[in-house]
Amino acid sequence: MTSYLFSPAPVPSLPIRGQAERYPVGRIFCVGRNYHAHAVEMGRPVDKSAERAFYFTKTPSTLVESGATVAYPPETKNYHFEMELVLAIGKPGFRVKAADAHELIYGYGAGLDMTRRDLQLVARDKGRPWDTGKDFEQSAVCTEIVPMPGVVIEDAAIALEVNGQTKQSSNVDKLIWNIREIIEDLSLYYHLQPGDIIYTGTPEGVGAVVPGDTITGRVTGVAELSLTIAQAK
Ligand code: MN
Repeated sequence: MTSYLFSPAPVPSLPIRGQAERYPVGRIFCVGRNYHAHAVEMGRPVDKSAERAFYFTKTPSTLVESGATVAYPPETKNYHFEMELVLAIGKPGFRVKAADAHELIYGYGAGLDMTRRDLQLVARDKGRPWDTGKDFEQSAVCTEIVPMPGVVIEDAAIALEVNGQTKQSSNVDKLIWNIREIIEDLSLYYHLQPGDIIYTGTPEGVGAVVPGDTITGRVTGVAELSLTIAQAK
């Protein structure tokens, strides 16, 4: 038995709908700019014929389950929501063809890629890493994982409200790189593994929240989430 200097952190995990076992999360990948209208609102339109998708990651310990209350994070004045369909990988795959991509799919959740937008944009514009803008404590919000093995979601409404007021409303059929293409491309860079989850990108309408706000959101046919923002600690 290995002995550690101090107790290791628990394995980050998410509940699975309809079963007692939890889904252990090994890595969190995020697709950048994957809806045209969001790419335009960020001032960086995407030309799919000339560009490849790009990715960033979040540390698994940043995971927060839907329903939580999180403190307004430090060192930001522009804390943004991004509502996203989250894909959960269930089988290993490397250099997977799009036509075979469904074989890797375990299920889906609905997630928030919470972002310190001011820090992200400074980093972007100075050519620096995005980590402080994207990979911070409690920044990866997700619902339970809904088992849908082998199912490729091509059409589902995605929406988000702040204090009941609609801010984002779109459909995952507007993904620039769809589920099969994401798996095909990401698996060129990484040996995908069970436990990898992929935030597939956000539609337009991203914006800021402040302490006291409650976010609700959903991917229709998958899951519904909520998050409450508390005062900074
Ligand atoms: Mn995002």
